[in-house]
Amino acid sequence: MKKNVIYVRQSLGTDKQPHSISMQRDMALEYAEKRDWIIHDVYDEGNRSARKTNLEERPELRRLLNDVEAGKIQRILVFKRDRLARKVQQYIEIYRLIKKHGVELHFVADNEPPPFEGAASEFIEAILAGIAEHEANNIVQRLIYSKIPLIQKGLWQVGNPPYAYKSIKTKKKDGSDEEKTPLIEGESNLKFDLDKVKTVKVLYYEVNAISSYILDKQDYNHFCKVLKENESLACLSPKQIWEIITQTLHIGKMVQKLDGEVYEVDNAVTQKNRILNKEEEILWYKANEIINKMNVPDSYKGTKKEEDEDLPSPKLENVLYCGICDQPMLAISKVYKCKTKTCKNSPKIITVDDEVTKRVWNDLLQRGGQHWEKVKEILKTKYSKPFKARIKHLNKELLFLEKEIKEHFRKHLELSLDNNPYLSHLVNRYKETAKEHEMYESLLFHVGHFINNLDKQKTLGLITEMQLTEIQKINILSLVKKVYFAKKKSAKLVCYEPEY
Ligand SMILES: [Zn+2]
Repeated sequence: MKKNVIYVRQSLGTDKQPHSISMQRDMALEYAEKRDWIIHDVYDEGNRSARKTNLEERPELRRLLNDVEAGKIQRILVFKRDRLARKVQQYIEIYRLIKKHGVELHFVADNEPPPFEGAASEFIEAILAGIAEHEANNIVQRLIYSKIPLIQKGLWQVGNPPYAYKSIKTKKKDGSDEEKTPLIEGESNLKFDLDKVKTVKVLYYEVNAISSYILDKQDYNHFCKVLKENESLACLSPKQIWEIITQTLHIGKMVQKLDGEVYEVDNAVTQKNRILNKEEEILWYKANEIINKMNVPDSYKGTKKEEDEDLPSPKLENVLYCGICDQPMLAISKVYKCKTKTCKNSPKIITVDDEVTKRVWNDLLQRGGQHWEKVKEILKTKYSKPFKARIKHLNKELLFLEKEIKEHFRKHLELSLDNNPYLSHLVNRYKETAKEHEMYESLLFHVGHFINNLDKQKTLGLITEMQLTEIQKINILSLVKKVYFAKKKSAKLVCYEPEY
């Protein structure tokens, strides 16, 4: 027997709605209970981010999709779209896989539009997933802004604390959630790691005592080697040495970088994080003067990229063939690789996808430009259809409910009943239906708006330079049936059928 399952994942934005795992699970269970479904399994991802595009980083989702592919699943219950994926591209991939295996997808959140069926479904799903992505970005923005006042108070907010410090945090007993202890105004959220504090002090003293002969060489690795002759510094890497010496927190100044901005704070709180006292402060300045004169390799200067660079998601797998030996090409990490092992053809995914997108897009515009009004009409008809059908159905339902309510209200007055559960049930149903109706009207409007906005002059004007969104690229490339690629200029679209 196929299973009914629940997938849950902790949400990032707890400020907006209560999205805790237990709440998501309870709502899904309630949803199932109402329909007499037995839940066989819960895939609990904990608080792993859906922004991680790599499925290996979300083992429960991987397990779920494996079970989908193995034909073990009948229904998946999930709180909202954004629980499955924050990125449109990945959401669409998951959605396709689920649909392909005939699995039902149910969203249990109150206001989440249900999955759409039929020809337009992917387009609509892409729009909705796009909204989810947009909201996710808003949450990230909100998180960033909520950190700024804390940074200005002198509290450590960005990444792991520097060497020799620990953050004051408590782990919940089950080990799942981390929660900061309530901070007393004027207290730091860092504490010292006392053994490491000693190491830091020794380092500054050693740097200041190092012979000018070593310094004159300006060889940073040699400089580190000499320092590491001191037993208590032997554990430090050249990178750590650089990070420690340049850390201003040791003299009571906290420097944090957030979203491209640098915040420097020197107040009573950050002064509590001092490792060198006022008299020793000179050691810090001297050590920094010394290290600035050194040729420190860039790789040591911990200029970590703050945003994790996602691997490109290949959009042409299954339709891409090697332009040299005619074999299928597979996406591996950042490139498409020819299936022939000896073949050297391995262009970057981004290059190929961009080039092919550009060509199809140009071709589409050329064809579309010739029949522009017709194109818009066809698109509108096609993509509005499911909404119009649903709205029509809901209109009927509303009319029916209106009639029922009037009738029962009249009876209610005639009989002067105190309490009429059936009438309140009808009113509630009316409210729910009206809400749904409004939602679909709004979606219909957005779809129409989206298509109407494909203004001819403007669109044609953007032909080559236009930065297509991920959704647009996916839609465009989904038209490609087969493409050969060897070098950029020789890319050949063999079979491509526009829908109009
Ligand atoms: Zn090849």
